Amino acid sequence: MPRSELDLNPVQHITADAIGKPGQRVFYLQGWRETDIHPVTVIIEKVQLQTLATGLEQMLAEIVQQNPALAGLQADYDSDKMRITPPVDPLFRAGEMGLGYDAEEDQIVILVREIVMEDGDPEEASVVRFWCSRQQASWLAGWSQEVVNRGRPICPQCGQPMEPEGHFCPKKNGHKH
Ligand SMILES: [Zn+2]
Repeated sequence: MPRSELDLNPVQHITADAIGKPGQRVFYLQGWRETDIHPVTVIIEKVQLQTLATGLEQMLAEIVQQNPALAGLQADYDSDKMRITPPVDPLFRAGEMGLGYDAEEDQIVILVREIVMEDGDPEEASVVRFWCSRQQASWLAGWSQEVVNRGRPICPQCGQPMEPEGHFCPKKNGHKH
């Protein structure tokens, strides 16, 4: 049995965000139901967020391909509403993640399973399921891409983004710093 199993069905809001200095950012997935007093937050890796965003976009495209009658989605999200909401009190660190679609309810489910440590029992890993509309999933996907790409630090000398391996700064005559 999982230690805890949480079905947010449906979420009123779902988003992702990163907190911390560039290079040391921690990524979060967060959602809540209308009745939740506090947001439900889990820690995910940057690559997991990237995979989630790509997976959602693919799934959304496939759904519309199979059901052309479905209503279209608005592409633009409100960045202010997509930022993480305190308190950020993560339930666990994400391991396995999965996606599903309930055609009857026209709902997408994002399943997040707690990471299992070497000596841990996979059966006991906690589970959260975020049930969201296609619109919410689409905004989450678009915003997550933005969050992932936001990562590169900005050079204090010239204001250009720096690569992790160093940066040839025009303000320093091309010297690496
Ligand atoms: Zn520079």
